[in-house]
Amino acid sequence: VVAASGVRMSYGDTQVLNGVDFTVRQGEVSCVIGPSGSGKSTFLRCVNGLEPVLGGSLRVLGEEVGHTLGAGRYHRWTPKRFAAFRRDIGMVFQRFNLFAHQTALENVACAPIHVAGRPPAEARELALRHLEQVGLAAHAHKRPHQLSGGQQQRVAIARALAMEPALMLFDEPTSALDPELVDEVLDVMKALARGGMTMIVVTHEIGFAREVGDTLTFFADGVVVESGRPEAVLADPAHERTRAFLASVL
Ligand code: ATP
Ligand code: MG
Repeated sequence: VVAASGVRMSYGDTQVLNGVDFTVRQGEVSCVIGPSGSGKSTFLRCVNGLEPVLGGSLRVLGEEVGHTLGAGRYHRWTPKRFAAFRRDIGMVFQRFNLFAHQTALENVACAPIHVAGRPPAEARELALRHLEQVGLAAHAHKRPHQLSGGQQQRVAIARALAMEPALMLFDEPTSALDPELVDEVLDVMKALARGGMTMIVVTHEIGFAREVGDTLTFFADGVVVESGRPEAVLADPAHERTRAFLASVL
């Protein structure tokens, strides 16, 4: 589903990705850890076509993403093809980014109506089912400020699922949450994983990575330092940098 080989990316003169090799297969949960500034978020943004890939090869869902110029610009792709590609990828951020003036249901139904062109009644019906899936059907009428952080993040997950993505990207989805709200979000992600969703999860929740992850990848300085079965990487990291990082988060 994702095959990165030697992916490079920079912001101006700052080289951020220095040759990332990374593979995710269908149905896999791929967890990513690494120090701040190591390029984890940037890599996710490359995967969904938001940042230009300046070198190497990055294939995502059968498309060579290196053909995009990032941020909705592209050279070999038509705008329509780029939009279709973006629709197949769901993204959940640290900050939930819900529409503040809309109810949970409206947040979830919005893209299916306005992007996918579904009839509103049908989209709302489906949105309710996605809210059910994250345990929030009873809160469908509430606006974000009436929901806890954990509930807001679950709405954000339902909103991403509403487009029926083939791949879900999570960028530190629980790191803005109070500790007691983390588990409800992780539980939703676990259920998704059990349902066979292909996911890349940037997280420092090592317990989640151990329990749910098929692979655990350690990023540092814009490269993959180490990648493998979570239990193997955690029990016996091959690199000193991984060891030092794990010591700091465990
Ligand atoms: P964190 O754990 O803090 O989220 P990260 O691994 O996600 O870190 P990135 O956000 O990918 O790291 O950032 C990698 C590098 O790119 C950092 O040095 C950062 O300062 C730089 N960077 C990120 N976004 C931009 C931007 N829009 N413009 C310029 N530099 C940026
Ligand atoms: Mg980040």
